[in-house]
Amino acid sequence: MNYDLPPEYTALRRMMREFCEEEIKPAAKRIDHSGQVPREMLQRLGELGFLGVPFPRQYGGMGAGEIGYCILMEELNRASPSVATIVGAHIGIGVMSLYLDGSKTLQDKYMPDLCSGKKICAFALTEPNAGSDAAAIQMRATLEGDSYFLDGQKMWITNGPIADVINVLALTDPALGARGGATVFAVEREWEGYSTGKPERKMGLHGSPTSLLNFDNVRVPKENIVGQLGLGFVTFMKTLDIGRVSLGAATLGGAQAALEACVRWARTRSQFGRQIAHMQSVQFIVADMAAEIEALRALVYRTAWLVDTGRPFIKEAGMCKLLGSETASRCIDRAVQIHGALGLSRDFPLERAFRDARISEIFEGTNEIQRIVIASELMQEVGVRLRP
Ligand SMILES: Cc1cc2nc3c(=O)[nH]c(=O)nc-3n(C[C@H](O)[C@H](O)[C@H](O)COP(=O)(O)OP(=O)(O)OC[C@H]3O[C@@H](n4cnc5c(N)ncnc54)[C@H](O)[C@@H]3O)c2cc1C
Repeated sequence: MNYDLPPEYTALRRMMREFCEEEIKPAAKRIDHSGQVPREMLQRLGELGFLGVPFPRQYGGMGAGEIGYCILMEELNRASPSVATIVGAHIGIGVMSLYLDGSKTLQDKYMPDLCSGKKICAFALTEPNAGSDAAAIQMRATLEGDSYFLDGQKMWITNGPIADVINVLALTDPALGARGGATVFAVEREWEGYSTGKPERKMGLHGSPTSLLNFDNVRVPKENIVGQLGLGFVTFMKTLDIGRVSLGAATLGGAQAALEACVRWARTRSQFGRQIAHMQSVQFIVADMAAEIEALRALVYRTAWLVDTGRPFIKEAGMCKLLGSETASRCIDRAVQIHGALGLSRDFPLERAFRDARISEIFEGTNEIQRIVIASELMQEVGVRLRP
């Protein structure tokens, strides 16, 4: 399945598909039940170069850009959304913020180990009182000599329990607030005063660990500022914008897997003396699913192309996340219906897919926030500036 992408991506997709089918998909049920992705699996992804797909080769990346990264996320999410979420938080928002705005010294220091899978990254923005309203963060970073001291809590952080490098946003000038007075710091897990809570018990994505992070006077050298002092909010928002494209790609993989399961099942299952494929209600469902998925595919890969060619993409990225998460939830819900009782069985992958998909409508900015982002961009095009 090439989907008309330039030929250089065909081999990449084949390689990723093979790996996912052979090594990830067979482990997906175990990952869900055990609540863990084996670290060796992440190491293996790193050895194959998959954890550095979008980044330039000089940092140990694969140099395949956003399109290559979207292919990876689509394939991973077909096989195991838990693995895709770990990888998405690592590459798409964790390492991405270092790549977008980090100094050359910081990039040289961390990116090779992050791209090779020796180290895992996390992106820490959300706090108990700052979810959709990310600018309401309260975490402080106070300058003393050549170092900042970080105090506060982050919560719902993907990879929290396993991350070695954590990019975290804290107020360096509380009087200015997050917009203008917050800075991103790269923190290492061994540093004194840093600790993580127990993994959250979630509806789905059981293998993707999410936790609270505690910063108790953690000393961070000035050199570990990612981007510019006071401009961390911009760095994180830029990162989230790009992250929404690959999240759309991930949801595409989940929706496609559901469609393929439906078509297979419609051929296998017979009722009233004929395959359910012959029933119009089933045909209409798979037709709608296929049409929605093709539209999503076109949007995701066009947006990835906008990113790779340096064109504006914020509105389309919001659409990737919005349309993708809702398409995947709808398709998987319909797939459960077509499978009847089997769709609800914990022994069958759809039940897990249903639980895993729901979260995409919430994390990396809820779908309500995506609608606000899209509307703001649209209004800006006609000269109307909406308030944040
Ligand atoms: C599995 C998982 C992994 C996550 N990983 C990370 C991570 O790696 N890093 C990180 O920093 N965060 C992470 N998060 C946090 C996530 O980004 C937030 O949960 C999300 O931004 C929503 O914030 P909230 O949960 O506080 O909901 P709230 O902001 O409290 O929203 C509650 C409801 O109000 C709606 N709402 C809020 N404001 C508006 C508005 N202005 N207009 C319309 N509706 C509005 C929301 O859409 C939602 O329906 C993760 C969350 C989950 C569940």
